[in-house]
Amino acid sequence: MRKLSFIFMTLSAIACNRQERARDFDYTVDRFADIEILRYQVPDFENLSLRQKLLVYYLTQAALEGRDILYDQNCRYNLLIRRTLEAVYQGYRGDRGSEGFANLTLYLKQVWMGNGIHHHYSTDKFTPLFSREFFAEAVAGTDPRLLPLGEGETAAQLAAELAPVIFDPALYAKRTNQADGVDLIRSSANNYYGEGVSQPEVEAFYRRMKEGGGPEPVPYGLNSRLVKEGGRLVEETYKVGGLYSASLERIVGWLRKAAEVAENDRQKAVIDALVDFYQTGDLKAYDRYCILWVGDLDSRVDFVNGFTETYGDPLGMKGAWESIVNFKNVGATKRTEVISANAQWFEDHSPVERRFKKERVKGVSAKVITAAILAGDCYPSTPIGINLPNSNWIRAAHGSKSVTIENITEAYDKAALGNGFNEEFMWSDLERGRAEKYATLTDNLHTDLHECLGHASGKLLPGVDPDALKAYGSVIEEARADLFGLYYLGDPKLVELGLLPDREAFKAEYYKYVMNGLMTQLTRIAPGCDLEEAHMRNRQLVAAWVYAKGKGDGVLGFKKRDGKTFVVVNDYDRLRDLFGMLLAEIQRVKSTGDYEGGRRLVEDYGVKVDGELHEEVLARYGKLGLAPYKGFVNPVYTLVTDADGEPTDVKVSYDEDYVGQNLRYSREYSALPGRN
Ligand code: ZN
Repeated sequence: MRKLSFIFMTLSAIACNRQERARDFDYTVDRFADIEILRYQVPDFENLSLRQKLLVYYLTQAALEGRDILYDQNCRYNLLIRRTLEAVYQGYRGDRGSEGFANLTLYLKQVWMGNGIHHHYSTDKFTPLFSREFFAEAVAGTDPRLLPLGEGETAAQLAAELAPVIFDPALYAKRTNQADGVDLIRSSANNYYGEGVSQPEVEAFYRRMKEGGGPEPVPYGLNSRLVKEGGRLVEETYKVGGLYSASLERIVGWLRKAAEVAENDRQKAVIDALVDFYQTGDLKAYDRYCILWVGDLDSRVDFVNGFTETYGDPLGMKGAWESIVNFKNVGATKRTEVISANAQWFEDHSPVERRFKKERVKGVSAKVITAAILAGDCYPSTPIGINLPNSNWIRAAHGSKSVTIENITEAYDKAALGNGFNEEFMWSDLERGRAEKYATLTDNLHTDLHECLGHASGKLLPGVDPDALKAYGSVIEEARADLFGLYYLGDPKLVELGLLPDREAFKAEYYKYVMNGLMTQLTRIAPGCDLEEAHMRNRQLVAAWVYAKGKGDGVLGFKKRDGKTFVVVNDYDRLRDLFGMLLAEIQRVKSTGDYEGGRRLVEDYGVKVDGELHEEVLARYGKLGLAPYKGFVNPVYTLVTDADGEPTDVKVSYDEDYVGQNLRYSREYSALPGRN
């Protein structure tokens, strides 16, 4: 579960040491379409022990080896298209200065950003700006040894096979379709379900499977593609010897090396359990791994590696492959330790009904981490916070681990300094001043509260199906976590605990949140579109609901100046009460599995867009010349060995660009066949 609130991070008060580091570091790497590519630093890596550095190194290799899996999960043509485009990019013998070639390069950059032919955020298929004719000519004019040709296949046949997938707007139009009232499986282009499989068939298949599940159900369907074979539905399991075997074998190889340099026996057991899961594909083994992983709290180095988040599946079951390798940021972690130590107090004092609260909040652990590598579904676009595992019963019985990735938020902050956004959209110097003074802190704190407390709070009533909210489940869950964080940001307790300096600070986050949810996040969708992505829906749901309930009393509203619309908050304490009321209602929906209640909240507040305001926001934003989405390149890790081949150090460097990195990844970490 993730909180992705990085987009409009505001200007910030920055500690001196951070400024030192920033001075000679170039955060911006590339800019194309609606994307800006940044790089991030890995402070303190050089201070890890040699053993820890080697552990990080082997885990980063295991992370990068999964890249192709995600491409194939996202759409069955992705690998073939990526390899064809890369071949053309590197081996085209025609005019490389032509407009067609420039537009093909742009499209390739978009494909890398989306891990396939769909936008990473909207999941709409990219529209190429080069023609079908140019594509055919470019493939034909490329060194055929570079092309991913099948047995006996010609360049012309390859181009002809791929052309409709790239150019026909109706074909594979949307990776993950969430639209109300259509077959979500048939209308989604992802590769989690085979040809001809329908939503009712999938629902019936997994309903039958869940019936025998008991109180500790495995995450059914998480690691498989569901296909039709001779009219029967069967799961093709992702495992060594199964689907995606070639990549998983390499991942297992690196994990085995990592296990040899684990920091302690507990961490070694975690890695061994993950290897066991990849080898067997058994979801019980996956749960065993998750339980061990959640219990590993003492190691400095940690990682996520596996089929994890389910946002890419409209039914929320199939796990997209991802990996993050990281190590604890010891200083900043003190902040989240204070939150965790008080978890029970927060649960007891939340505004939700008593019967929906946890009597005992277990094992809420939280830390601030430094990311060392981003991979799979966390690359190039990445979350800034993670809370895992996703299994409800494991979270209830064993707790969850929650992290804030501070070197990533730092890169966002730094890259945004002085870009004019706050000047354009905030009402006055008062709001801008608060943003400058507090927003980095309150942003990080909101992420901490969302991840450490929000997702971990509350409980389902006995017998309630955790998937009862179906397609609305993700939005409701994210809204719940956001609201928990918002409600407590405004609590005097945070000042008392020393987490906020004064009773003024929370206003920075409140203002930013409602401005973003009511207005500025609309910069990220095309004119005429409604909201579809879970986090965007959740933010508008929250902001539009408090606006609807609070505008009559003047708690918050819109104001016009020079023909421009602004959000104005007049009463922050009453705004906090409204967040509390909505939190209580959302928790009721979740705890009772009230599908209709959840559907109404999302459809009434979280989907529809005010077209006129949308146009205005797009126009104002357009003038700033900013990219609404950010991606990252990773640092490069180099193993240093002595004359006998024994490792003596791992060096980190930051000089790789976006194109170079993606081409290298495709050369070095690409084990899967083009057709899986
Ligand atoms: Zn979340």
